[in-house]
Amino acid sequence: MGKMTRTGGPGLGPGGFCVCPKCGFRKGHYPNLPCIEEKCPKCGAKLLREGSEHHLKIAEKRSKKNEDSRSH
Ligand SMILES: [Zn+2]
Ligand SMILES: [Zn+2]
Repeated sequence: MGKMTRTGGPGLGPGGFCVCPKCGFRKGHYPNLPCIEEKCPKCGAKLLREGSEHHLKIAEKRSKKNEDSRSH
């Protein structure tokens, strides 16, 4: 009880957003187009599905980095 562990598919449902892990650019997600096949128009980085495991990991890393640089 308590832990929401998901195995298998992303299960994010249709719609949602693609986000740029570098600059934070955000756009509507195309259902039939994987986010990583789209590139950020601002910085050229591959986009990620907002809320996906990959995106959350990167967001976590970034926030940790920020904390490190702040406390340093
Ligand atoms: Zn970008
Ligand atoms: Zn997308």
